[in-house]
Amino acid sequence: MSMPPSLQVTAIPAFADNYLWLIHDQQHAAVVDPGDATPIEDALRSLGLALNAILLTHHHADHAGGVAELLSNWSVPVFGPAGEKIHGVSRPLHEGDVVDLPVLGLRLNVLDVPGHTAGHIAYVAGEQNWLFCGDTLFAGGCGRLFEGTPGQMTQSLAKLAALPDETLVYCAHEYTLSNLRFALAAEPDNADLAARFEQAQQMRARGEATVPSTIGLEKRTNPFLRYREPAVLRTLQSAGRLGNEEPVAAFAALREWKNSFR
Ligand code: ZN
Ligand code: FE
Repeated sequence: MSMPPSLQVTAIPAFADNYLWLIHDQQHAAVVDPGDATPIEDALRSLGLALNAILLTHHHADHAGGVAELLSNWSVPVFGPAGEKIHGVSRPLHEGDVVDLPVLGLRLNVLDVPGHTAGHIAYVAGEQNWLFCGDTLFAGGCGRLFEGTPGQMTQSLAKLAALPDETLVYCAHEYTLSNLRFALAAEPDNADLAARFEQAQQMRARGEATVPSTIGLEKRTNPFLRYREPAVLRTLQSAGRLGNEEPVAAFAALREWKNSFR
């Protein structure tokens, strides 16, 4: 309704496989997880944009490392998780908080999604059906459990899976092919997954990003949202990776297996 029709999201590649997300309306921009300031400054300059806000999902350097340099050029609010100490954050956020960026006509709802880190948050643009989830949910996978438990991560992923199927998933890394190779090992007979892997290989061969994906596609193909499926449980049991029927144990076994999967 009030959304400017031109609001768009642009991927800014950084480091080996990060995507920094620039939300803009041809004039103003907000950046999600600027791990590096240089490619953001380059993009702002070439697109003729003024930075309006910085949004952080968690404390890792590949997500927050560019904040100090951006703040030396732009006097803007820095939104970030209240549960993590991140230099430069001026607007700490909890689940249920709303980020209002009237200049961009953008409203974002905040979710607590601990697991990858203890205070990790995600941003949901309800009007546009956009999700910025950092390193929690990936295309075909999920983040490593550096600071959280399998139980926390399954709850966090369940919150994201509850979003509308058409929600675009703007995750922070291009890990899709290796994630889908693992997914096929976990669920070899999933036809949607086989088709997705085929398509993702073609996209990467053309040098295209495989993200954003959608919540609907993730629910059909991502083993970390499908750890209760009988086919996934059978794989884990026949590989000797699952001793009991606890759903969270299945998630933990999958995540553990992926850590050493080649
Ligand atoms: Zn991270
Ligand atoms: Fe990361």
